[in-house]
Amino acid sequence: MKILKKCEYCENEFTAQRVSTRYCSPDCNKTHYKLLSRIRVIKNTKKRAEKSKNNSNSYTIGISNKEFLSINEACELLGISRSTINRYIKTKKIEINKLNKKVIIKRKHIDIFLEQFQIVSIPDEVINFKNSFNINDYYFIGEVLNMYNTTGHSLNTILKKNNISKIKLGSHSYILKKDIIKIFGNPKNLQNNG
Ligand SMILES: [Zn+2]
Repeated sequence: MKILKKCEYCENEFTAQRVSTRYCSPDCNKTHYKLLSRIRVIKNTKKRAEKSKNNSNSYTIGISNKEFLSINEACELLGISRSTINRYIKTKKIEINKLNKKVIIKRKHIDIFLEQFQIVSIPDEVINFKNSFNINDYYFIGEVLNMYNTTGHSLNTILKKNNISKIKLGSHSYILKKDIIKIFGNPKNLQNNG
């Protein structure tokens, strides 16, 4: 059976084997299918945006469906400031493209950027330590050296031998007061004796 038909995509006439055949070639079929799905996506996006017109999110919904974003749109979508996004761009955390002189960000690159943010679980021991931490329970290393008239080197040796760990805050190290007192004795007694 041969039927003369008009291709739904390119509109050329062709002979079809079946009545149900709509396209002159698989290429036309594929291209038209892609085009139709694209149109459907855009229509759905518009519908969604219209539905939430009174909603402050409508703009964001519109942006999140775009394939290419301006810097301002990317800021809006991510909820970050212009200077923050500039930092991410500078450190190459967000990849950019240039269209003539205009900087654009592919939606794909926003998604890649977001994947970098994984939620890290905080160990219980860290939480417990933070909750019980009080800087006044600690001596600064320099205080220990002065009070007990020792050197950094010998202090380190003693700490190692007694399995006592220092903690580091910023660029300074601290040791638990009670650990020091256990080894060297109470500094008040030292002063009284000396
Ligand atoms: Zn065709």
